[in-house]
Amino acid sequence: MADFLLGRANKVKRIEPPIDLFELAKIQRVTAVDLRPMLPTGGLSRRSSGFWICIQDLRRTQPIEVAVGSPVEDRPRLTTRQRFTMAHELAHTLLFDTSDPPQPRAGCPKGAKLEALCHRAARRILMPPALVTAEVAKREKLGARDILDLARLFDVSPEIALWRCDELSAVRDSDRVVLYVRKSFSGADEIAGFFCSSWFQDRKGRPELGMPPAKWLSGLVDESFWSDPKATSMFSDVKEEIGITRVPFAKTAHFIELELRRPDDSSRASDRVNGDPV
Ligand SMILES: [Zn+2]
Repeated sequence: MADFLLGRANKVKRIEPPIDLFELAKIQRVTAVDLRPMLPTGGLSRRSSGFWICIQDLRRTQPIEVAVGSPVEDRPRLTTRQRFTMAHELAHTLLFDTSDPPQPRAGCPKGAKLEALCHRAARRILMPPALVTAEVAKREKLGARDILDLARLFDVSPEIALWRCDELSAVRDSDRVVLYVRKSFSGADEIAGFFCSSWFQDRKGRPELGMPPAKWLSGLVDESFWSDPKATSMFSDVKEEIGITRVPFAKTAHFIELELRRPDDSSRASDRVNGDPV
């Protein structure tokens, strides 16, 4: 249904990153978006015809209502967190019919299942498959810098960019892992996002969100790796070599890139002239 909505938007105006969520809102009969200081991150109400979306905005003391049809320059800029919330609420609207007021479609999931479904749809709305695949295809190998580029281009958080890349066959079939590591509330490092190729998944298991990176990397790096913010390390055994690099990002976050270097990589490198594939 998310793809159907994107398809409809594409007929009105060619969609390109970053996705204009207000254009999608118009199609979904959302009349206004309210930015307000409130506890929940977002909410959706039905009106006599259509919907009304509320988005948490703790920078404001008073709510403001943004008309969906207002020009881009008249709308307040949403943070990546708010864009995700808006995409999530738009996903909820897909589960209603077109009557006045809209009625829930039959057979819709409920509770946690429904929220998980809307999260998934939100990621797909913010980073549509065809646009992500096209952007990834422009890059020879995906690394931390590419994730930051994609996050900027699609106006999403690095977590969402990683999540969508992890769903691509180009990543599954690659020889790479990128972990996004952030400090938790307790100050400990935890994995906050990742993409992981099948090769690494088969060998190390799938990383888990919230897991300490040292746990997933056990056996590949030693203590000294963690003391230097720009540390690189090389793990090798008889069969393979794994290059491991830390890429600083912010005071409280960094990326860790892992790359499998097979023995025939040197021959692949010789197929290049000045770094460009030939
Ligand atoms: Zn929800």
